[in-house]
Amino acid sequence: MIVMGIESSCDETGVGIVRWLGDGRCELLADEVASSVDQHARYGGVVPEIASRAHLEAMVPTMTRALTAAGIDKPDAIAVTIGPGLAGALLVGVAAAKAYAAAWGVPFYAINHLGGHVAVDTIEHGPMPPCVALLVSGGHTHLLHVEGLGRKPIVELGTTVDDAAGEAFDKVARLLDLGFPGGPALDRLAQRGERDAIVFPRGMTGPRDARHDFSFSGLKTAVARFVEAKQAAGEPIPVADIAAGFQESVADVLTMKAVRAAQDVGVGTLVLGGGATANSRIRSLAEERCGAAGLTLRVPSPRLCTDNGVMIAALGAHLIAGGAQPSRLTSATDPGLPVSVSQVRD
Ligand code: ATP
Ligand code: MG
Ligand code: FE
Repeated sequence: MIVMGIESSCDETGVGIVRWLGDGRCELLADEVASSVDQHARYGGVVPEIASRAHLEAMVPTMTRALTAAGIDKPDAIAVTIGPGLAGALLVGVAAAKAYAAAWGVPFYAINHLGGHVAVDTIEHGPMPPCVALLVSGGHTHLLHVEGLGRKPIVELGTTVDDAAGEAFDKVARLLDLGFPGGPALDRLAQRGERDAIVFPRGMTGPRDARHDFSFSGLKTAVARFVEAKQAAGEPIPVADIAAGFQESVADVLTMKAVRAAQDVGVGTLVLGGGATANSRIRSLAEERCGAAGLTLRVPSPRLCTDNGVMIAALGAHLIAGGAQPSRLTSATDPGLPVSVSQVRD
């Protein structure tokens, strides 16, 4: 069975194609992505209308490139992100998926973007055991309990109560004049700073805070206040130490809570996903702490961590193998789709 996955929930137009090999394994046949990230840079964040138009222009060429790369005329099934994401952006991918499914006479599966971030790990690391997944991107921060990928609903253990972790990286990077998206630049700057020269707050780590939830807006404000105080005093701003201290706070909270969640639900594996897991400190601290806790850590390569079509194809293949029935061609996009809903039927 060959599954095509279409992704258009944010600023990446992704078309991926995988072959289901059985027993939780998928082979990657094509991975084509067109990003509009450069068009958003001067606004300091993703502009929904620009993203939608860019998807419209990129969708058919990206689809064609993926078919050529895979060496096929059409897949056996099409899976598409139906939510969560930007309403107008989602519409483009879903309309394309419906049109091609109808024209080719193949089944259409309307599926969840977040589950895709988890499922993509099976491409490089094989069948997924029961695990906790930590998703961190520009729009999402979630701790998930995955018991049977494609067979059982994913359970959300916790999420951010305000900013997503990647969003905090981008906002702090903007404050330090590092451009957009600022995460990678901030990561590089932090390598030159001292991690504990400035200790910023760790959100929601108090005894009365929800165990598995996150908060990053207080941290962002603390960094802003620190910079303002330095400016008011006419002192130089220690940008590298600020970057390192900020990054340490985010990585510390994310990895500490992720390991704790895995221990709480009693699984032996932690999976990372989402574009912000490209962060060097989040990766190294996750390795260190999983090692100390006796957990297996699985992290997809950076290209598969950011939004792409392969992740949607991989989740689609797992759902189909798990017995999912196709969605209706009338299925509506759901910008706020909860992670517990892997597939929308109608
Ligand atoms: P979604 O939230 O729907 O997944 P997105 O486009 O916001 O979409 P991704 O494309 O997965 O998310 O990831 C982009 C985010 O990851 C940006 O916020 C970016 O700053 C952050 N990021 C990328 N590399 C790094 C890094 N090395 N360190 C910190 N953050 C990073
Ligand atoms: Mg993106
Ligand atoms: Fe994503």
